[in-house]
Amino acid sequence: MPSPDAKPIVLIVDDSVDVHRLLTARLKHEPIELVSATNGVQAVQLAKQRLPATILLDLDMPQMDGLSVLRALKDEPSTRTIPIIVLSGLQSSQDKVTAFELGANDYVTKPFDLAELRARLRASLRLHHLLGLLSDRADLDGLTGLGNRAAFNKRWAQETSGNRRYGTPLSLLIVDIDHFKKINDTYGHPAGDEVLIGFAKLLQKECRETDIPCRYGGEEFALIMPSTSPADAAQVAERIRVAVAGVTWPRHPEHHVTASFGVAGVAQTPCPLSAEAWLEAADKNLYSSKKSGRNRVSTSDLAAAPMAKAG
Ligand code: GH3
Ligand code: MG
Ligand code: MG
Repeated sequence: MPSPDAKPIVLIVDDSVDVHRLLTARLKHEPIELVSATNGVQAVQLAKQRLPATILLDLDMPQMDGLSVLRALKDEPSTRTIPIIVLSGLQSSQDKVTAFELGANDYVTKPFDLAELRARLRASLRLHHLLGLLSDRADLDGLTGLGNRAAFNKRWAQETSGNRRYGTPLSLLIVDIDHFKKINDTYGHPAGDEVLIGFAKLLQKECRETDIPCRYGGEEFALIMPSTSPADAAQVAERIRVAVAGVTWPRHPEHHVTASFGVAGVAQTPCPLSAEAWLEAADKNLYSSKKSGRNRVSTSDLAAAPMAKAG
Protein backbone atom coordinates (compact mmCIF):
# COMPACT_ATOMS: atom_id res chain seq x y z
CA MET A 1 0.00 0.00 0.00
CA PRO A 2 1.63 3.34 -0.99
CA SER A 3 1.78 5.91 1.82
CA PRO A 4 -0.74 8.75 1.41
CA ASP A 5 1.93 11.36 0.68
CA ALA A 6 3.86 9.22 -1.83
CA LYS A 7 3.93 10.73 -5.31
CA PRO A 8 1.89 8.87 -7.91
CA ILE A 9 4.04 6.71 -10.17
CA VAL A 10 3.90 7.20 -13.94
CA LEU A 11 5.36 4.39 -16.03
CA ILE A 12 6.75 5.40 -19.42
CA VAL A 13 7.02 2.55 -21.91
CA ASP A 14 8.94 3.27 -25.10
CA ASP A 15 11.80 1.57 -26.95
CA SER A 16 13.29 4.94 -27.81
CA VAL A 17 15.71 6.32 -25.24
CA ASP A 18 15.15 9.79 -26.71
CA VAL A 19 11.48 9.68 -25.74
CA HIS A 20 12.42 8.79 -22.14
CA ARG A 21 14.94 11.62 -22.05
CA LEU A 22 12.49 14.13 -23.47
CA LEU A 23 9.63 13.16 -21.16
CA THR A 24 11.87 13.03 -18.08
CA ALA A 25 13.06 16.56 -18.80
CA ARG A 26 9.64 17.96 -19.60
CA LEU A 27 7.75 16.32 -16.73
CA LYS A 28 10.35 16.99 -14.06
CA HIS A 29 8.24 19.65 -12.33
CA GLU A 30 5.16 17.44 -12.11
CA PRO A 31 4.46 15.93 -8.66
CA ILE A 32 5.01 12.39 -9.96
CA GLU A 33 7.65 9.67 -9.84
CA LEU A 34 8.70 8.52 -13.30
CA VAL A 35 9.59 4.90 -13.95
CA SER A 36 10.93 3.73 -17.33
CA ALA A 37 10.56 0.55 -19.35
CA THR A 38 12.16 0.12 -22.76
CA ASN A 39 10.36 -3.04 -23.83
CA GLY A 40 6.99 -4.69 -23.38
CA VAL A 41 8.04 -7.53 -21.09
CA GLN A 42 9.74 -5.14 -18.70
CA ALA A 43 6.68 -2.86 -18.86
CA VAL A 44 4.28 -5.60 -17.74
CA GLN A 45 6.67 -6.66 -14.97
CA LEU A 46 7.13 -3.11 -13.67
CA ALA A 47 3.41 -2.40 -13.87
CA LYS A 48 2.69 -5.41 -11.62
CA GLN A 49 5.46 -4.50 -9.18
CA ARG A 50 4.95 -0.77 -8.90
CA LEU A 51 1.22 -0.39 -9.71
CA PRO A 52 1.63 2.99 -11.43
CA ALA A 53 -1.13 5.61 -11.40
CA THR A 54 -0.88 5.98 -15.19
CA ILE A 55 1.06 4.28 -17.98
CA LEU A 56 2.28 6.14 -21.06
CA LEU A 57 2.53 3.36 -23.62
CA ASP A 58 4.23 3.37 -27.01
CA LEU A 59 2.57 1.09 -29.59
CA ASP A 60 5.39 0.46 -32.01
CA MET A 61 8.00 -1.63 -30.20
CA PRO A 62 10.00 -4.70 -31.30
CA GLN A 63 9.07 -8.14 -29.82
CA MET A 64 6.14 -7.39 -27.55
CA ASP A 65 4.32 -4.42 -29.09
CA GLY A 66 2.13 -1.92 -27.25
CA LEU A 67 -1.18 -3.60 -28.08
CA SER A 68 0.12 -6.88 -26.59
CA VAL A 69 1.24 -5.00 -23.48
CA LEU A 70 -2.22 -3.46 -23.27
CA ARG A 71 -3.82 -6.91 -23.50
CA ALA A 72 -1.51 -8.33 -20.84
CA LEU A 73 -2.23 -5.44 -18.47
CA LYS A 74 -5.98 -5.82 -18.90
CA ASP A 75 -5.79 -9.60 -18.34
CA GLU A 76 -4.08 -9.16 -14.99
CA PRO A 77 -6.47 -8.17 -12.15
CA SER A 78 -3.90 -6.08 -10.28
CA THR A 79 -3.14 -3.86 -13.30
CA ARG A 80 -6.57 -3.86 -14.95
CA THR A 81 -7.72 -0.46 -13.72
CA ILE A 82 -4.50 1.49 -14.30
CA PRO A 83 -5.31 4.25 -16.82
CA ILE A 84 -3.27 3.95 -20.00
CA ILE A 85 -2.41 6.75 -22.40
CA VAL A 86 -1.18 5.41 -25.70
CA LEU A 87 1.67 7.36 -27.28
CA SER A 88 2.16 6.60 -30.88
CA GLY A 89 3.45 7.73 -34.21
CA LEU A 90 0.91 5.46 -35.87
CA GLN A 91 -1.91 7.74 -36.80
CA SER A 92 -4.58 5.63 -38.45
CA SER A 93 -7.91 5.85 -36.75
CA GLN A 94 -8.09 2.03 -36.80
CA ASP A 95 -5.07 1.89 -34.44
CA LYS A 96 -6.78 4.30 -32.13
CA VAL A 97 -10.02 2.33 -32.20
CA THR A 98 -8.15 -0.92 -31.48
CA ALA A 99 -6.29 0.66 -28.57
CA PHE A 100 -9.53 2.00 -27.09
CA GLU A 101 -11.26 -1.34 -27.59
CA LEU A 102 -8.46 -3.03 -25.67
CA GLY A 103 -9.01 -0.62 -22.81
CA ALA A 104 -6.72 2.38 -23.40
CA ASN A 105 -8.07 5.55 -21.84
CA ASP A 106 -6.46 8.12 -24.09
CA TYR A 107 -4.30 8.45 -27.16
CA VAL A 108 -1.64 11.01 -28.02
CA THR A 109 0.09 11.04 -31.39
CA LYS A 110 3.81 11.67 -31.82
CA PRO A 111 5.45 14.09 -32.10
CA PHE A 112 3.50 15.24 -29.09
CA ASP A 113 2.61 18.64 -27.93
CA LEU A 114 4.01 18.62 -24.41
CA ALA A 115 1.46 21.00 -22.93
CA GLU A 116 -1.31 18.75 -24.23
CA LEU A 117 0.40 15.61 -22.96
CA ARG A 118 0.81 17.17 -19.52
CA ALA A 119 -2.86 18.13 -19.42
CA ARG A 120 -3.93 14.63 -20.46
CA LEU A 121 -1.59 13.09 -17.91
CA ARG A 122 -3.07 15.24 -15.13
CA ALA A 123 -6.59 14.24 -16.16
CA SER A 124 -5.53 10.60 -16.10
CA LEU A 125 -4.03 10.94 -12.61
CA ARG A 126 -7.29 12.51 -11.41
CA LEU A 127 -9.18 9.55 -12.84
CA HIS A 128 -6.84 7.13 -11.06
CA HIS A 129 -7.33 8.98 -7.78
CA LEU A 130 -11.12 8.79 -8.11
CA LEU A 131 -11.01 5.09 -9.00
CA GLY A 132 -8.98 4.54 -5.83
CA LEU A 133 -11.59 6.32 -3.72
CA LEU A 134 -14.35 4.26 -5.30
CA SER A 135 -12.64 0.93 -4.79
CA ASP A 136 -12.00 1.87 -1.17
CA ARG A 137 -15.67 2.58 -0.73
CA ALA A 138 -16.64 -0.72 -2.30
CA ASP A 139 -14.93 -2.39 0.66
CA LEU A 140 -16.60 -0.23 3.30
CA ASP A 141 -19.85 -0.70 5.12
CA GLY A 142 -22.01 2.37 4.47
CA LEU A 143 -23.49 2.61 7.97
CA THR A 144 -20.50 2.03 10.25
CA GLY A 145 -17.51 2.81 8.02
CA LEU A 146 -15.94 -0.53 8.99
CA GLY A 147 -14.82 -3.01 6.37
CA ASN A 148 -17.81 -4.87 4.91
CA ARG A 149 -18.20 -8.56 4.29
CA ALA A 150 -16.24 -8.39 1.03
CA ALA A 151 -13.38 -6.72 2.88
CA PHE A 152 -13.60 -9.35 5.59
CA ASN A 153 -13.45 -12.20 3.08
CA LYS A 154 -10.42 -10.70 1.41
CA ARG A 155 -8.51 -10.00 4.63
CA TRP A 156 -9.46 -13.33 6.18
CA ALA A 157 -8.09 -15.18 3.15
CA GLN A 158 -4.85 -13.17 3.38
CA GLU A 159 -4.35 -13.60 7.11
CA THR A 160 -5.15 -17.33 7.16
CA SER A 161 -2.78 -17.92 4.27
CA GLY A 162 -0.06 -16.09 6.25
CA ASN A 163 -0.78 -18.30 9.25
CA ARG A 164 -0.63 -21.45 7.11
CA ARG A 165 2.70 -20.45 5.66
CA TYR A 166 4.50 -19.02 8.68
CA GLY A 167 2.57 -20.34 11.68
CA THR A 168 2.18 -16.84 13.12
CA PRO A 169 -0.55 -16.54 15.77
CA LEU A 170 -3.96 -15.54 14.46
CA SER A 171 -7.38 -15.29 16.04
CA LEU A 172 -10.86 -14.52 14.82
CA LEU A 173 -13.63 -13.04 16.90
CA ILE A 174 -17.26 -13.07 15.75
CA VAL A 175 -19.77 -11.05 17.73
CA ASP A 176 -23.53 -10.70 17.47
CA ILE A 177 -25.62 -8.16 19.37
CA ASP A 178 -28.13 -9.78 21.72
CA HIS A 179 -31.87 -9.31 21.12
CA PHE A 180 -31.13 -6.60 18.62
CA LYS A 181 -34.51 -7.01 17.00
CA LYS A 182 -36.07 -5.83 20.22
CA ILE A 183 -34.18 -2.52 20.03
CA ASN A 184 -35.56 -1.91 16.54
CA ASP A 185 -39.03 -2.98 17.58
CA THR A 186 -39.10 -0.95 20.79
CA TYR A 187 -37.19 2.22 19.92
CA GLY A 188 -37.31 2.27 16.14
CA HIS A 189 -34.88 1.50 13.34
CA PRO A 190 -32.80 4.70 13.78
CA ALA A 191 -32.15 3.72 17.40
CA GLY A 192 -31.00 0.31 16.12
CA ASP A 193 -28.72 2.03 13.62
CA GLU A 194 -27.28 4.15 16.39
CA VAL A 195 -26.42 1.03 18.37
CA LEU A 196 -24.69 -0.47 15.32
CA ILE A 197 -22.67 2.73 14.78
CA GLY A 198 -21.84 2.97 18.47
CA PHE A 199 -20.86 -0.68 18.63
CA ALA A 200 -18.57 -0.27 15.60
CA LYS A 201 -16.85 2.70 17.25
CA LEU A 202 -16.36 0.79 20.44
CA LEU A 203 -14.96 -2.20 18.56
CA GLN A 204 -12.47 0.08 16.83
CA LYS A 205 -11.51 1.76 20.08
CA GLU A 206 -10.98 -1.47 22.00
CA CYS A 207 -8.93 -3.30 19.37
CA ARG A 208 -5.36 -2.83 18.28
CA GLU A 209 -4.22 -0.78 15.28
CA THR A 210 -3.26 -4.01 13.49
CA ASP A 211 -6.61 -5.72 14.13
CA ILE A 212 -9.18 -5.69 11.34
CA PRO A 213 -12.75 -4.89 12.43
CA CYS A 214 -15.52 -5.58 9.90
CA ARG A 215 -19.28 -5.56 9.80
CA TYR A 216 -20.00 -9.11 8.79
CA GLY A 217 -23.70 -8.47 8.19
CA GLY A 218 -26.80 -7.14 10.01
CA GLU A 219 -25.87 -6.92 13.70
CA GLU A 220 -22.93 -9.28 13.40
CA PHE A 221 -19.32 -8.10 13.45
CA ALA A 222 -15.96 -9.80 12.96
CA LEU A 223 -12.56 -8.87 14.29
CA ILE A 224 -9.51 -10.45 12.70
CA MET A 225 -6.61 -10.35 15.14
CA PRO A 226 -3.21 -11.02 13.57
CA SER A 227 -0.34 -12.02 15.89
CA THR A 228 -2.84 -12.78 18.64
CA SER A 229 -3.28 -16.11 20.45
CA PRO A 230 -6.82 -17.32 21.22
CA ALA A 231 -6.18 -16.69 24.94
CA ASP A 232 -5.26 -13.06 24.26
CA ALA A 233 -8.16 -12.70 21.82
CA ALA A 234 -10.53 -14.00 24.50
CA GLN A 235 -9.29 -11.25 26.80
CA VAL A 236 -9.96 -8.63 24.14
CA ALA A 237 -13.44 -10.09 23.63
CA GLU A 238 -14.08 -9.97 27.37
CA ARG A 239 -12.99 -6.33 27.46
CA ILE A 240 -15.34 -5.46 24.58
CA ARG A 241 -18.17 -7.44 26.21
CA VAL A 242 -17.86 -5.47 29.45
CA ALA A 243 -17.49 -2.15 27.60
CA VAL A 244 -20.65 -2.69 25.49
CA ALA A 245 -22.73 -3.70 28.48
CA GLY A 246 -21.59 -0.54 30.27
CA VAL A 247 -22.66 1.93 27.56
CA THR A 248 -25.57 4.24 28.37
CA TRP A 249 -27.37 4.86 25.09
CA PRO A 250 -28.79 8.39 24.76
CA ARG A 251 -32.01 7.20 23.09
CA HIS A 252 -32.73 4.46 25.61
CA PRO A 253 -30.67 4.97 28.78
CA GLU A 254 -32.86 2.43 30.56
CA HIS A 255 -32.01 -0.31 28.06
CA HIS A 256 -28.44 -1.64 28.11
CA VAL A 257 -27.21 -3.61 25.12
CA THR A 258 -25.15 -6.78 25.36
CA ALA A 259 -23.44 -8.98 22.80
CA SER A 260 -22.30 -12.59 22.46
CA PHE A 261 -18.84 -13.59 21.29
CA GLY A 262 -17.18 -16.54 19.58
CA VAL A 263 -13.38 -16.73 19.37
CA ALA A 264 -11.24 -19.27 17.52
CA GLY A 265 -7.53 -19.06 16.89
CA VAL A 266 -4.09 -20.56 17.07
CA ALA A 267 -0.91 -19.51 18.84
CA GLN A 268 2.39 -20.24 17.08
CA THR A 269 1.25 -23.02 14.74
CA PRO A 270 -0.40 -23.25 11.34
CA CYS A 271 -4.10 -23.90 11.90
CA PRO A 272 -5.14 -27.42 10.84
CA LEU A 273 -8.51 -26.08 9.64
CA SER A 274 -9.30 -24.39 6.32
CA ALA A 275 -10.19 -20.67 6.39
CA GLU A 276 -13.88 -21.58 6.03
CA ALA A 277 -13.83 -24.22 8.78
CA TRP A 278 -11.98 -21.75 11.03
CA LEU A 279 -14.74 -19.18 10.49
CA GLU A 280 -17.34 -21.88 11.22
CA ALA A 281 -15.53 -22.74 14.45
CA ALA A 282 -15.74 -19.11 15.61
CA ASP A 283 -19.40 -19.02 14.58
CA LYS A 284 -20.12 -22.22 16.50
CA ASN A 285 -18.61 -20.67 19.61
CA LEU A 286 -20.80 -17.61 19.12
CA TYR A 287 -23.80 -19.92 18.93
CA SER A 288 -22.70 -21.61 22.20
CA SER A 289 -22.50 -18.19 23.85
CA LYS A 290 -26.05 -17.44 22.67
CA LYS A 291 -27.37 -20.79 23.82
CA SER A 292 -25.79 -20.65 27.23
CA GLY A 293 -27.41 -17.33 28.09
CA ARG A 294 -25.86 -14.58 25.87
CA ASN A 295 -23.57 -11.73 26.99
CA ARG A 296 -20.57 -14.07 27.15
CA VAL A 297 -17.43 -15.22 25.33
CA SER A 298 -16.70 -18.77 24.10
CA THR A 299 -13.22 -19.57 22.86
CA SER A 300 -11.40 -22.43 21.12
CA ASP A 301 -7.73 -23.04 20.56
CA LEU A 302 -7.74 -24.72 17.17
CA ALA A 303 -4.20 -26.09 17.40
CA ALA A 304 -5.79 -29.17 18.94
CA ALA A 305 -8.62 -29.34 16.38
CA PRO A 306 -8.98 -32.52 14.32
CA MET A 307 -7.30 -32.40 10.90
CA ALA A 308 -9.44 -30.99 8.11
CA LYS A 309 -8.66 -30.19 4.54
CA ALA A 310 -6.83 -26.85 4.38
CA GLY A 311 -8.26 -24.76 1.54
P1 GH3 B 1 -30.08 -12.83 19.08
O1 GH3 B 1 -29.79 -12.38 20.47
O2 GH3 B 1 -30.44 -14.27 19.02
O3 GH3 B 1 -28.95 -12.49 18.15
O4 GH3 B 1 -31.38 -12.04 18.60
P2 GH3 B 1 -31.45 -10.78 17.65
O5 GH3 B 1 -32.76 -10.12 17.83
O6 GH3 B 1 -30.25 -9.94 17.84
O7 GH3 B 1 -31.30 -11.46 16.23
P3 GH3 B 1 -32.26 -11.53 14.99
O8 GH3 B 1 -31.42 -12.19 13.93
O9 GH3 B 1 -33.58 -12.12 15.34
O10 GH3 B 1 -32.54 -10.02 14.55
C1 GH3 B 1 -31.56 -9.22 13.99
C2 GH3 B 1 -32.24 -7.96 13.54
O11 GH3 B 1 -31.28 -7.02 13.05
C3 GH3 B 1 -33.19 -8.17 12.38
C4 GH3 B 1 -32.85 -7.08 11.40
O12 GH3 B 1 -33.99 -6.39 10.97
C5 GH3 B 1 -31.96 -6.15 12.18
N1 GH3 B 1 -31.01 -5.43 11.35
C6 GH3 B 1 -30.18 -5.94 10.41
N2 GH3 B 1 -29.46 -4.93 9.84
C7 GH3 B 1 -29.89 -3.76 10.40
C8 GH3 B 1 -29.53 -2.38 10.22
O13 GH3 B 1 -28.67 -2.02 9.40
N3 GH3 B 1 -30.15 -1.46 10.99
C9 GH3 B 1 -31.09 -1.82 11.92
N4 GH3 B 1 -31.66 -0.88 12.64
N5 GH3 B 1 -31.46 -3.12 12.09
C10 GH3 B 1 -30.87 -4.08 11.35
MG1 MG C 1 -28.37 -10.72 17.37
MG1 MG D 1 -27.79 -12.14 14.02
